[in-house]
Amino acid sequence: MKDQKETILVSACLLGANCRYDGNNGKNEDVLALLDQYHLVPVCPEQLGGMQTPRPPAERRGESVINQSGEDVTAFFVKGADETLKLAEIYGCKRAILKERSPSCGRGMIYDGTFSGKKIPGSGVTAALLEENGIEVTGESSIKSGTVRRDSR
Ligand code: SF4
Repeated sequence: MKDQKETILVSACLLGANCRYDGNNGKNEDVLALLDQYHLVPVCPEQLGGMQTPRPPAERRGESVINQSGEDVTAFFVKGADETLKLAEIYGCKRAILKERSPSCGRGMIYDGTFSGKKIPGSGVTAALLEENGIEVTGESSIKSGTVRRDSR
């Protein structure tokens, strides 16, 4: 019989997968501690969209996503968002914990598209799609000691 734990989608890099653009991870012990209370489904939208690892960093510019080589990689990001939403639906996830500031996973604040480190209000392609579909997205800084605090909305 299935237990009663909630299933939550999580950016795979937060769980220690080396899926970041630079081939590293963003392992977060507070997020890992959620394993005691929840089923966590790791997702990397950029890999699900067909991008290689490592890959050039990319940032949103309006509705597009442009990498540091100047290539328009929007289609990969849109596909990755679609695949992530499908997984959320398959697993019945109502919540996602996603890596902040990423052009895929960031929610509420992202880099401004100039690769200068400047941040602007906005969300990554996947975070936006999940929210449009009623999935609550939370950044990793809202996770403390294995509990999920709600971001201010
Ligand atoms: Fe992490 Fe999301 Fe970037 Fe993948 S797309 S490396 S999960 S922030």
